[in-house]
Amino acid sequence: MDKLTVRDIDVAQKQVLVRVDFNVPHDEAGNITNDKRIREALPTINYLLDQQAKVILVSHMGRPKGKIVEELRLDQVAQRLEELLGKPVVKVNDTIGAEVESAVAALESGQVLMLENVRFYKEETDNDPQFAKKLADLADVFVNDAFGTAHRAHASTEGVAHYLPSAAGFLIEKEIEALSKAIHQPEHPVVAVIGGAKVSTKIKLLWNLLDIADVICIGGAMANNFILATGRQVGCSLVEKEYVDEALAIQKEAKKKGVKFMVPTGFLIGNSLEMDCNWGELGIDDIDETDRMELRKEPIYIQDIGWRAMESYKEEISQAKTVIWNGPMGRFENWKFERGTKRMAEAMGENTEALTIVGGGETAAAVEKFGLQDKMSHVSTGGGACLEFLEGKELPGIVVLNNKQ
Ligand code: ADP
Ligand code: MG
Repeated sequence: MDKLTVRDIDVAQKQVLVRVDFNVPHDEAGNITNDKRIREALPTINYLLDQQAKVILVSHMGRPKGKIVEELRLDQVAQRLEELLGKPVVKVNDTIGAEVESAVAALESGQVLMLENVRFYKEETDNDPQFAKKLADLADVFVNDAFGTAHRAHASTEGVAHYLPSAAGFLIEKEIEALSKAIHQPEHPVVAVIGGAKVSTKIKLLWNLLDIADVICIGGAMANNFILATGRQVGCSLVEKEYVDEALAIQKEAKKKGVKFMVPTGFLIGNSLEMDCNWGELGIDDIDETDRMELRKEPIYIQDIGWRAMESYKEEISQAKTVIWNGPMGRFENWKFERGTKRMAEAMGENTEALTIVGGGETAAAVEKFGLQDKMSHVSTGGGACLEFLEGKELPGIVVLNNKQ
């Protein structure tokens, strides 16, 4: 990575403002249901503490839209961090202002202070320069370790870096190294496995992958667009009809570039989207235009890729040197339709020679559900940030950090 990291700067006895992504899932009472994001930030925080820095943490949680929302205060987060660090964490009830300034002044080397939810100020998402300056005034150095929000140019992710020496934390370093290897210097063959709910959110990714991948395997609801593009039917399945032409254009471009573009020829289908639906497998030519299964006169909802697609995608994955996966192959939340997604995860886990990259919120959740996260080279912590990076975009929260000399 060409950006400074925490290792490159002298932080001893300094006040270090660290942007973390503690936007953890929680229930209505505010109890944390998954603390993965807090644990992901520990290497950077522990390193800074070992270096005798004064650590000031800033994060957002949820979407309070510039107002104080009691359930979105970060007290429980600070408490969980305290347990994980095995060290006291001082929590203040504001993000800037007098209370914060005196807490910062009282902070000693090797201590941690947690600021209040930064999105209680609308200046945060506005990237207001004065607000960013106030955050910067709390510290001598800025460290960004919030990969999950690095695609947003907000005051605490981007604005603040204009006023302080700025470096990346270990989580951002890890993410950028894995993701850039996959898209900028991948070992070939590169196999991309792309699925998910909406083709519209993955169109830019597909275009970018045409210049990177040797093989693109399509699954999820977006496969339906490619089926419609060949003049076939998809019954009642989820589809964004307005993207059919673009699906055709992508496929044409793939052919021109010599990218093997694979679309399923069969699907696991259900007669509804309910958990207890009747289900089975159909070839694409068996789905007729009446939206009905010929024999049973029932609606057709495509919910997973068929076994032929599973087998051929697995074969491609097993030969790959790099695998980039974004988007589940089916509605894996229902066990009846988890198989396609699970087979992809297993095939990636078995190919220990390849760099295997998993991106996307639900895709990562699926890999965790199958207990295969440790078999992957890298499971990204950033849904939107990872997607934008794989699309070839620069992330504002990273661009703004100081370059290595
Ligand atoms: P990610 O968060 O990994 O980027 P997406 O948000 O694009 O993935 O899509 C995830 C969702 O796609 C999952 O919740 C899954 O249920 C849904 N999905 C996958 N295949 C289908 C399908 N054939 N029909 C409807 N939904 C699907
Ligand atoms: Mg998603």
